[in-house]
Amino acid sequence: MRSPFNFSSRDIAIDLGTANTVIYVRGQGIVTSEPSVVTMEIVNGVRKVRAVGNDAKLMMGKTPDNIKTVRPLRAGVIADLEVAEEMIKHFIRKAHGGPSRFSRGPEVVICIPSGATSVERRAIRDAVSNAGADRVSLIEEPMAAAIGAGLPVADPVGSMVVDIGGGTTEVGVISLQGLAFCRSARVGGDRMDDAIAAYVRRNFNLLIGEGTAERVKMEIGSAVRPADGQGLTTYVRGRDVSRGVPAEIQLSQSQVADALSEPVAQIVEVVRTALENTQPEIAADVIDLGITMTGGGSLLRGFATVIADSTGLPVHVADEPMLCVALGAGQTLEDHVLRGALMAA
Ligand code: ADP
Ligand code: MG
Repeated sequence: MRSPFNFSSRDIAIDLGTANTVIYVRGQGIVTSEPSVVTMEIVNGVRKVRAVGNDAKLMMGKTPDNIKTVRPLRAGVIADLEVAEEMIKHFIRKAHGGPSRFSRGPEVVICIPSGATSVERRAIRDAVSNAGADRVSLIEEPMAAAIGAGLPVADPVGSMVVDIGGGTTEVGVISLQGLAFCRSARVGGDRMDDAIAAYVRRNFNLLIGEGTAERVKMEIGSAVRPADGQGLTTYVRGRDVSRGVPAEIQLSQSQVADALSEPVAQIVEVVRTALENTQPEIAADVIDLGITMTGGGSLLRGFATVIADSTGLPVHVADEPMLCVALGAGQTLEDHVLRGALMAA
């Protein structure tokens, strides 16, 4: 027999990231994490979804003319509403293990970048409603990240979280369940990939795709040059610009660190600005608790050390940094008191 309590497991929290969408189901925890990528086929002038998530990312940069790969959240907010809606629908269905069999739509908590405008907030709310949600609540990303990282957000002590995603870096200073200060900048992992591709083109006359640049970043990327010599190396394939033929070169860790120096410096600058704008009493707490890093960008080698050196504060990377935002948003689904206190307008 179906009891009303069965309905609760349909409620979900969504971290709709520029790079990855992570879904938490109430009572179950995180059920999917996949790239925020959709491939669309154009049939007689009409766009149709061909693949979503992992399958779509595999096709990136390799599709024929009538098939396009779209990242609907490029800059931290929804850039292509129609495609974003299709993607959200797909992930909700997947989280529920198939098409909906219930009369009631799920209740959805969704994260938004702290810098989102009211128009952008509206767009996200609408996309989730159109995807079939009965009730939609928004939560600011830095707050969700802080909860997911286990920071004491309900206490009268200040803490700082730096979430480095694909499209944005969000810095939040949190005390007493509120964001005392937040700053969102449109620099993150994508900018690092672009910087690597630009470096390779400039120095080797080689054009590489964004997937290749991202792989190089993950394999040998570093926020600092290796202490001795060239460090790790990797091979990179692309198209030689002048000869127009495929070619392969070798890249070293110190070269990649050079390529990444600009986006790394920009992110450090966002953190420093946030510290300068933090009230003195809260700043005093941050000296003890330090800075907590979340998001995939926090996995770049040496990044925590670079931020520690430039701020003089202790810095640590959260456990499971790419899941913190979804875990934090999920916790508000499980805890109504917390949710009541936290929802963004
Ligand atoms: P978003 O919240 O924007 O979806 P995520 O927190 O999921 O972003 O992080 C995705 C970003 O993290 C991507 O730009 C990805 O390339 C980057 N990333 C993932 N793993 C690593 C790694 N080991 N080193 C450097 N960057 C990484
Ligand atoms: Mg994120």
